[in-house]
Amino acid sequence: MIKIKARFLGGAGEVGKSGIMISDNKTNIIMDYGVKLQEEPVEYPIAPKEKIDFVIPSHAHLDHSGAVPVLFKRSNPKVLATDLTLELSYLLLNDSLKIAKKRKERLPFSKRELKDMMRNAEPVGYRSPRKLRGMRAELFDAGHIPGSSSILLTKEKRIFYTGDIKLKASRLLNGCSLPSKVDILITESTYGDTIQPEREKEEEKIKHHVKEALANNDIALIPTFAVGRAQELLLMLEEFADFIAMDGMAKQATEIIHYYKKYIKNAKELKKIMSKITWIRNTRQRDSIIKKGGIILTTAGMLGGGPIIYYLQKLHDNPKTKILFSGFLVEDTPGYNLLKSGIYSNEEMGGKKNNFKVQCEMHRFNFSAHADREELLDIIKKLSPEKVICVHGDKCKKFAKDITELLNINAFAPKCGEEIVL
Ligand SMILES: [Zn+2]
Repeated sequence: MIKIKARFLGGAGEVGKSGIMISDNKTNIIMDYGVKLQEEPVEYPIAPKEKIDFVIPSHAHLDHSGAVPVLFKRSNPKVLATDLTLELSYLLLNDSLKIAKKRKERLPFSKRELKDMMRNAEPVGYRSPRKLRGMRAELFDAGHIPGSSSILLTKEKRIFYTGDIKLKASRLLNGCSLPSKVDILITESTYGDTIQPEREKEEEKIKHHVKEALANNDIALIPTFAVGRAQELLLMLEEFADFIAMDGMAKQATEIIHYYKKYIKNAKELKKIMSKITWIRNTRQRDSIIKKGGIILTTAGMLGGGPIIYYLQKLHDNPKTKILFSGFLVEDTPGYNLLKSGIYSNEEMGGKKNNFKVQCEMHRFNFSAHADREELLDIIKKLSPEKVICVHGDKCKKFAKDITELLNINAFAPKCGEEIVL
Protein backbone atom coordinates (compact mmCIF):
# COMPACT_ATOMS: atom_id res chain seq x y z
CA MET A 1 0.00 0.00 0.00
CA ILE A 2 1.25 3.47 -0.88
CA LYS A 3 1.96 5.66 2.09
CA ILE A 4 0.25 9.02 2.05
CA LYS A 5 1.88 11.61 4.21
CA ALA A 6 0.70 14.94 5.58
CA ARG A 7 3.12 17.65 6.62
CA PHE A 8 1.89 20.69 8.52
CA LEU A 9 3.69 23.71 7.10
CA GLY A 10 1.82 26.26 9.22
CA GLY A 11 -1.49 26.92 10.95
CA ALA A 12 -0.95 24.00 13.33
CA GLY A 13 -1.82 25.07 16.87
CA GLU A 14 -2.29 28.64 15.66
CA VAL A 15 -4.51 30.82 13.47
CA GLY A 16 -2.57 32.13 10.47
CA LYS A 17 -0.18 30.90 7.76
CA SER A 18 -2.22 27.77 7.06
CA GLY A 19 -0.46 25.18 4.90
CA ILE A 20 -0.74 21.39 4.63
CA MET A 21 1.28 19.27 2.21
CA ILE A 22 -0.14 15.91 1.15
CA SER A 23 2.26 13.59 -0.66
CA ASP A 24 2.28 10.09 -2.06
CA ASN A 25 5.36 8.65 -3.75
CA LYS A 26 5.01 10.83 -6.84
CA THR A 27 2.74 13.83 -6.22
CA ASN A 28 2.98 16.78 -3.83
CA ILE A 29 -0.15 18.77 -3.17
CA ILE A 30 -0.38 21.79 -0.89
CA MET A 31 -3.75 22.75 0.54
CA ASP A 32 -3.67 26.44 1.56
CA TYR A 33 -0.52 28.47 1.77
CA GLY A 34 -1.23 31.62 3.74
CA VAL A 35 0.42 34.29 5.85
CA LYS A 36 0.21 35.25 9.51
CA LEU A 37 -0.61 38.92 9.27
CA GLN A 38 -0.87 39.62 12.98
CA GLU A 39 2.87 39.13 13.40
CA GLU A 40 5.37 41.89 12.73
CA PRO A 41 7.06 41.12 10.36
CA VAL A 42 4.42 38.97 8.65
CA GLU A 43 5.12 35.23 9.03
CA TYR A 44 5.15 32.68 6.21
CA PRO A 45 4.64 28.91 6.35
CA ILE A 46 7.55 26.45 6.06
CA ALA A 47 8.94 26.29 2.51
CA PRO A 48 9.09 22.65 1.41
CA LYS A 49 12.18 21.52 -0.52
CA GLU A 50 10.18 19.20 -2.80
CA LYS A 51 8.79 20.27 -6.15
CA ILE A 52 5.12 21.13 -5.68
CA ASP A 53 2.70 19.84 -8.33
CA PHE A 54 -0.57 21.36 -7.19
CA VAL A 55 -1.66 24.04 -4.74
CA ILE A 56 -5.28 24.32 -3.69
CA PRO A 57 -6.17 27.51 -1.77
CA SER A 58 -9.42 26.82 0.08
CA HIS A 59 -10.48 30.48 0.01
CA ALA A 60 -9.25 34.00 -0.61
CA HIS A 61 -8.48 35.15 2.96
CA LEU A 62 -4.78 35.89 3.11
CA ASP A 63 -4.13 33.56 6.02
CA HIS A 64 -4.98 30.79 3.51
CA SER A 65 -3.85 32.22 0.17
CA GLY A 66 -1.34 34.98 0.98
CA ALA A 67 1.83 32.90 0.42
CA VAL A 68 0.76 30.99 -2.73
CA PRO A 69 2.89 33.18 -5.06
CA VAL A 70 5.99 32.35 -2.97
CA LEU A 71 5.77 28.74 -4.18
CA PHE A 72 6.51 29.99 -7.71
CA LYS A 73 10.06 30.88 -6.70
CA ARG A 74 10.98 27.18 -6.72
CA SER A 75 8.09 25.28 -8.36
CA ASN A 76 5.53 25.79 -11.03
CA PRO A 77 2.41 24.21 -9.52
CA LYS A 78 -1.08 24.25 -10.97
CA VAL A 79 -3.37 26.38 -8.81
CA LEU A 80 -6.80 24.84 -8.34
CA ALA A 81 -9.60 26.82 -6.73
CA THR A 82 -13.04 28.18 -7.46
CA ASP A 83 -13.04 31.02 -10.00
CA LEU A 84 -14.23 33.42 -7.30
CA THR A 85 -11.43 32.41 -4.90
CA LEU A 86 -8.90 32.99 -7.67
CA GLU A 87 -10.31 36.43 -8.47
CA LEU A 88 -10.57 37.55 -4.84
CA SER A 89 -7.10 36.18 -4.02
CA TYR A 90 -5.69 38.22 -6.87
CA LEU A 91 -7.43 41.34 -5.54
CA LEU A 92 -6.05 40.84 -2.01
CA LEU A 93 -2.55 39.74 -3.07
CA ASN A 94 -2.19 42.62 -5.49
CA ASP A 95 -3.27 44.96 -2.71
CA SER A 96 -0.58 43.48 -0.40
CA LEU A 97 2.03 44.28 -3.06
CA LYS A 98 0.74 47.84 -3.37
CA ILE A 99 0.79 48.37 0.40
CA ALA A 100 4.31 46.92 0.68
CA LYS A 101 5.50 49.26 -2.07
CA LYS A 102 4.05 52.31 -0.32
CA ARG A 103 5.61 51.23 2.96
CA LYS A 104 8.91 50.52 1.22
CA GLU A 105 8.79 46.93 2.50
CA ARG A 106 9.81 43.84 0.53
CA LEU A 107 7.56 40.82 0.30
CA PRO A 108 9.02 37.37 -0.46
CA PHE A 109 7.24 37.49 -3.84
CA SER A 110 6.79 40.09 -6.54
CA LYS A 111 4.34 40.93 -9.29
CA ARG A 112 6.09 38.29 -11.42
CA GLU A 113 5.23 35.40 -9.09
CA LEU A 114 1.67 36.70 -8.74
CA LYS A 115 1.38 36.66 -12.53
CA ASP A 116 2.80 33.11 -12.65
CA MET A 117 0.21 32.09 -10.10
CA MET A 118 -2.64 33.48 -12.18
CA ARG A 119 -1.21 31.98 -15.37
CA ASN A 120 -1.22 28.55 -13.72
CA ALA A 121 -4.69 28.95 -12.24
CA GLU A 122 -7.38 26.47 -13.17
CA PRO A 123 -10.87 27.23 -11.90
CA VAL A 124 -12.63 24.23 -10.37
CA GLY A 125 -16.33 24.14 -9.51
CA TYR A 126 -17.85 22.52 -6.45
CA ARG A 127 -18.35 18.77 -6.74
CA SER A 128 -16.44 18.50 -10.02
CA PRO A 129 -13.69 15.96 -9.24
CA ARG A 130 -10.26 16.46 -10.80
CA LYS A 131 -7.58 13.85 -11.34
CA LEU A 132 -4.23 15.00 -9.98
CA ARG A 133 -1.59 12.48 -11.08
CA GLY A 134 -3.05 9.50 -9.31
CA MET A 135 -4.93 11.40 -6.62
CA ARG A 136 -8.38 12.89 -6.94
CA ALA A 137 -9.49 16.29 -5.66
CA GLU A 138 -13.01 17.55 -5.19
CA LEU A 139 -14.16 20.88 -3.76
CA PHE A 140 -17.19 21.35 -1.52
CA ASP A 141 -18.89 24.62 -0.56
CA ALA A 142 -17.44 25.52 2.87
CA GLY A 143 -20.07 28.20 3.66
CA HIS A 144 -17.37 30.50 5.10
CA ILE A 145 -17.09 33.30 2.51
CA PRO A 146 -18.28 33.45 -1.11
CA GLY A 147 -16.30 30.92 -3.17
CA SER A 148 -14.78 29.18 -0.13
CA SER A 149 -14.14 25.43 -0.34
CA SER A 150 -13.42 22.39 1.70
CA ILE A 151 -11.17 19.91 -0.11
CA LEU A 152 -11.63 16.15 -0.48
CA LEU A 153 -8.51 14.29 -1.61
CA THR A 154 -8.93 10.64 -2.50
CA LYS A 155 -6.21 8.05 -2.86
CA GLU A 156 -7.18 4.78 -1.21
CA LYS A 157 -8.36 6.90 1.73
CA ARG A 158 -10.74 9.80 1.70
CA ILE A 159 -8.99 12.80 3.25
CA PHE A 160 -11.20 15.82 3.92
CA TYR A 161 -9.81 19.24 4.84
CA THR A 162 -12.48 21.70 6.02
CA GLY A 163 -10.55 24.92 5.35
CA ASP A 164 -12.47 27.60 7.24
CA ILE A 165 -15.99 26.26 7.49
CA LYS A 166 -19.47 27.33 8.61
CA LEU A 167 -22.34 24.89 8.99
CA LYS A 168 -25.19 27.32 9.59
CA ALA A 169 -26.54 29.55 6.84
CA SER A 170 -26.34 33.34 6.91
CA ARG A 171 -28.16 35.92 4.82
CA LEU A 172 -25.38 35.67 2.27
CA LEU A 173 -24.42 32.00 2.23
CA ASN A 174 -26.06 28.60 2.50
CA GLY A 175 -23.74 26.96 4.99
CA CYS A 176 -21.37 24.15 4.08
CA SER A 177 -22.13 21.03 2.10
CA LEU A 178 -20.31 17.85 3.06
CA PRO A 179 -19.33 14.60 1.37
CA SER A 180 -20.55 11.28 2.71
CA LYS A 181 -18.31 9.49 5.17
CA VAL A 182 -14.59 10.28 5.06
CA ASP A 183 -11.63 8.40 6.54
CA ILE A 184 -9.46 11.24 7.72
CA LEU A 185 -10.74 14.66 8.68
CA ILE A 186 -8.45 17.67 8.99
CA THR A 187 -10.63 20.26 10.68
CA GLU A 188 -10.27 23.92 11.55
CA SER A 189 -10.69 24.47 15.29
CA THR A 190 -10.99 28.27 15.60
CA TYR A 191 -14.03 28.11 17.90
CA GLY A 192 -13.52 24.60 19.26
CA ASP A 193 -14.25 25.93 22.74
CA THR A 194 -16.87 28.61 22.04
CA ILE A 195 -20.61 28.73 21.48
CA GLN A 196 -21.59 31.72 19.37
CA PRO A 197 -24.62 33.91 20.02
CA GLU A 198 -27.59 33.59 17.65
CA ARG A 199 -27.00 35.55 14.46
CA GLU A 200 -30.59 36.85 14.36
CA LYS A 201 -30.20 38.39 17.83
CA GLU A 202 -26.89 40.05 16.90
CA GLU A 203 -28.60 41.37 13.79
CA GLU A 204 -31.41 42.90 15.84
CA LYS A 205 -28.85 44.58 18.08
CA ILE A 206 -26.84 46.14 15.27
CA LYS A 207 -30.04 47.32 13.56
CA HIS A 208 -31.16 48.95 16.80
CA HIS A 209 -27.94 50.99 16.97
CA VAL A 210 -28.12 51.91 13.30
CA LYS A 211 -31.72 53.13 13.73
CA GLU A 212 -30.72 55.20 16.74
CA ALA A 213 -27.84 56.83 14.86
CA LEU A 214 -30.08 57.67 11.89
CA ALA A 215 -32.82 59.06 14.14
CA ASN A 216 -30.24 61.46 15.60
CA ASN A 217 -28.94 62.44 12.16
CA ASP A 218 -25.64 60.99 13.22
CA ILE A 219 -23.25 58.39 11.94
CA ALA A 220 -23.01 54.64 12.32
CA LEU A 221 -19.44 53.83 11.32
CA ILE A 222 -19.12 50.12 10.61
CA PRO A 223 -15.62 48.75 10.03
CA THR A 224 -15.93 45.58 7.98
CA PHE A 225 -13.94 42.86 6.25
CA ALA A 226 -14.11 43.34 2.50
CA VAL A 227 -14.99 39.79 1.52
CA GLY A 228 -18.21 38.26 2.84
CA ARG A 229 -18.98 40.42 5.86
CA ALA A 230 -19.47 43.65 3.88
CA GLN A 231 -22.03 41.96 1.60
CA GLU A 232 -23.77 40.25 4.51
CA LEU A 233 -24.08 43.62 6.26
CA LEU A 234 -25.65 45.12 3.13
CA LEU A 235 -28.29 42.38 3.14
CA MET A 236 -28.83 42.77 6.88
CA LEU A 237 -29.26 46.54 6.62
CA GLU A 238 -31.38 46.43 3.46
CA GLU A 239 -34.15 48.62 4.90
CA PHE A 240 -31.60 51.42 5.42
CA ALA A 241 -29.95 51.04 1.97
CA ASP A 242 -30.63 54.67 0.98
CA PHE A 243 -28.49 55.82 3.89
CA ILE A 244 -25.54 53.47 3.36
CA ALA A 245 -22.21 54.64 1.98
CA MET A 246 -19.57 52.06 1.09
CA ASP A 247 -15.88 52.79 0.95
CA GLY A 248 -12.50 51.07 0.53
CA MET A 249 -11.70 47.56 -0.64
CA ALA A 250 -15.23 46.49 0.34
CA LYS A 251 -16.42 48.16 -2.89
CA GLN A 252 -14.33 46.07 -5.28
CA ALA A 253 -15.03 42.90 -3.30
CA THR A 254 -18.79 43.57 -3.44
CA GLU A 255 -18.67 44.11 -7.19
CA ILE A 256 -16.68 40.92 -7.77
CA ILE A 257 -18.89 38.83 -5.50
CA HIS A 258 -22.00 40.14 -7.17
CA TYR A 259 -20.53 39.22 -10.56
CA TYR A 260 -19.98 35.61 -9.39
CA LYS A 261 -23.56 35.45 -8.17
CA LYS A 262 -23.87 31.66 -8.18
CA TYR A 263 -21.89 31.59 -4.92
CA ILE A 264 -24.37 33.68 -2.93
CA LYS A 265 -27.92 33.19 -1.78
CA ASN A 266 -29.54 36.54 -2.46
CA ALA A 267 -27.92 37.95 -5.58
CA LYS A 268 -31.06 39.81 -6.71
CA GLU A 269 -31.54 41.45 -3.34
CA LEU A 270 -27.87 42.39 -3.21
CA LYS A 271 -28.07 43.98 -6.64
CA LYS A 272 -31.07 46.05 -5.58
CA ILE A 273 -29.23 47.28 -2.51
CA MET A 274 -26.09 48.02 -4.55
CA SER A 275 -28.15 50.30 -6.79
CA LYS A 276 -29.33 52.34 -3.79
CA ILE A 277 -26.17 52.85 -1.76
CA THR A 278 -23.58 55.60 -2.21
CA TRP A 279 -20.22 54.39 -3.53
CA ILE A 280 -17.57 56.65 -2.06
CA ARG A 281 -14.89 57.50 -4.63
CA ASN A 282 -13.14 60.58 -3.25
CA THR A 283 -12.48 62.72 -0.19
CA ARG A 284 -15.16 65.25 -1.14
CA GLN A 285 -17.78 62.49 -0.96
CA ARG A 286 -16.32 61.31 2.35
CA ASP A 287 -16.66 64.77 3.86
CA SER A 288 -20.16 65.11 2.51
CA ILE A 289 -21.37 61.89 4.17
CA ILE A 290 -19.68 62.89 7.43
CA LYS A 291 -21.60 66.18 7.33
CA LYS A 292 -24.91 64.64 6.29
CA GLY A 293 -24.88 61.58 8.57
CA GLY A 294 -25.70 57.99 7.67
CA ILE A 295 -24.21 54.51 7.72
CA ILE A 296 -20.62 54.10 6.58
CA LEU A 297 -19.40 50.59 5.72
CA THR A 298 -15.69 50.56 5.15
CA THR A 299 -12.49 48.55 5.37
CA ALA A 300 -10.29 47.66 7.16
CA GLY A 301 -12.26 45.57 9.64
CA MET A 302 -9.54 45.64 12.30
CA LEU A 303 -8.74 49.33 11.66
CA GLY A 304 -5.19 48.63 10.47
CA GLY A 305 -5.51 50.63 7.23
CA GLY A 306 -7.91 51.79 4.54
CA PRO A 307 -10.42 54.68 4.59
CA ILE A 308 -11.63 53.79 8.12
CA ILE A 309 -8.62 55.79 9.36
CA TYR A 310 -9.86 58.94 7.61
CA TYR A 311 -13.29 58.58 9.21
CA LEU A 312 -11.79 57.99 12.65
CA GLN A 313 -9.62 61.08 12.32
CA LYS A 314 -12.67 63.19 11.49
CA LEU A 315 -15.18 61.63 13.86
CA HIS A 316 -13.24 60.52 16.93
CA ASP A 317 -14.27 63.41 19.19
CA ASN A 318 -17.98 63.13 18.47
CA PRO A 319 -19.64 61.16 21.28
CA LYS A 320 -22.79 60.75 19.17
CA THR A 321 -21.03 58.77 16.44
CA LYS A 322 -21.42 55.05 16.88
CA ILE A 323 -18.63 52.67 15.91
CA LEU A 324 -20.15 49.23 15.34
CA PHE A 325 -17.54 46.47 15.09
CA SER A 326 -18.89 43.72 12.90
CA GLY A 327 -16.12 41.15 13.00
CA PHE A 328 -13.41 39.32 14.82
CA LEU A 329 -10.60 41.46 16.21
CA VAL A 330 -7.20 39.84 16.45
CA GLU A 331 -5.38 40.69 19.68
CA ASP A 332 -3.16 43.75 19.46
CA THR A 333 -4.62 45.06 16.20
CA PRO A 334 -5.55 48.79 16.29
CA GLY A 335 -9.26 47.80 16.45
CA TYR A 336 -8.74 45.43 19.36
CA ASN A 337 -6.72 48.03 21.25
CA LEU A 338 -9.24 50.79 20.56
CA LEU A 339 -12.10 48.76 21.98
CA LYS A 340 -10.03 47.90 25.05
CA SER A 341 -8.48 51.28 25.80
CA GLY A 342 -10.52 53.92 23.94
CA ILE A 343 -7.32 55.06 22.18
CA TYR A 344 -6.72 54.69 18.46
CA SER A 345 -3.04 54.16 17.88
CA ASN A 346 -1.67 53.19 14.49
CA GLU A 347 1.07 54.17 12.12
CA GLU A 348 -0.30 54.98 8.69
CA MET A 349 1.37 54.35 5.37
CA GLY A 350 3.98 57.02 4.83
CA GLY A 351 4.86 56.98 8.53
CA LYS A 352 2.12 59.30 9.85
CA LYS A 353 1.34 58.36 13.44
CA ASN A 354 -2.18 58.41 14.80
CA ASN A 355 -2.69 58.46 18.51
CA PHE A 356 -5.93 59.90 19.78
CA LYS A 357 -8.70 59.28 22.23
CA VAL A 358 -11.97 58.13 20.66
CA GLN A 359 -15.08 59.58 22.31
CA CYS A 360 -17.55 57.71 20.08
CA GLU A 361 -19.99 55.13 21.41
CA MET A 362 -18.55 51.69 20.58
CA HIS A 363 -20.21 48.27 20.33
CA ARG A 364 -19.07 44.91 19.09
CA PHE A 365 -21.19 42.22 17.42
CA ASN A 366 -20.49 38.60 16.67
CA PHE A 367 -21.28 37.48 13.13
CA SER A 368 -18.64 34.81 12.90
CA ALA A 369 -18.04 33.08 9.55
CA HIS A 370 -16.60 30.08 11.40
CA ALA A 371 -18.43 27.11 12.84
CA ASP A 372 -18.66 27.21 16.63
CA ARG A 373 -18.02 24.23 18.91
CA GLU A 374 -21.46 22.69 18.38
CA GLU A 375 -21.29 23.09 14.62
CA LEU A 376 -17.79 21.59 14.49
CA LEU A 377 -18.90 18.59 16.52
CA ASP A 378 -21.94 18.20 14.24
CA ILE A 379 -19.67 18.27 11.17
CA ILE A 380 -17.43 15.59 12.69
CA LYS A 381 -20.42 13.39 13.53
CA LYS A 382 -21.78 13.73 10.00
CA LEU A 383 -18.45 12.78 8.40
CA SER A 384 -17.77 10.00 10.95
CA PRO A 385 -14.03 9.75 10.25
CA GLU A 386 -11.65 7.20 11.78
CA LYS A 387 -9.19 9.97 12.61
CA VAL A 388 -9.53 13.72 13.23
CA ILE A 389 -6.62 16.14 12.94
CA CYS A 390 -7.23 19.54 14.55
CA VAL A 391 -5.56 22.62 13.03
CA HIS A 392 -6.24 26.38 12.80
CA GLY A 393 -6.91 27.33 16.41
CA ASP A 394 -5.28 28.45 19.64
CA LYS A 395 -6.61 25.48 21.56
CA CYS A 396 -6.32 22.63 19.05
CA LYS A 397 -4.97 20.18 21.65
CA LYS A 398 -7.87 20.77 24.00
CA PHE A 399 -10.37 20.42 21.16
CA ALA A 400 -8.77 17.15 20.02
CA LYS A 401 -9.04 15.81 23.58
CA ASP A 402 -12.73 16.82 23.72
CA ILE A 403 -13.42 15.06 20.40
CA THR A 404 -11.87 11.83 21.66
CA GLU A 405 -13.81 12.01 24.93
CA LEU A 406 -17.16 13.07 23.51
CA LEU A 407 -17.25 11.17 20.20
CA ASN A 408 -14.83 8.34 20.86
CA ILE A 409 -12.84 9.15 17.73
CA ASN A 410 -9.04 9.21 17.58
CA ALA A 411 -8.15 12.91 17.40
CA PHE A 412 -4.93 14.85 17.76
CA ALA A 413 -3.34 18.24 17.12
CA PRO A 414 -0.06 18.22 15.18
CA LYS A 415 2.75 20.69 15.71
CA CYS A 416 4.01 23.03 13.03
CA GLY A 417 6.54 21.15 10.86
CA GLU A 418 5.31 17.72 11.95
CA GLU A 419 4.89 15.01 9.30
CA ILE A 420 2.56 12.06 9.76
CA VAL A 421 1.51 9.01 7.75
CA LEU A 422 -2.21 9.11 7.10
ZN1 LIG B 1 -11.11 32.58 6.31
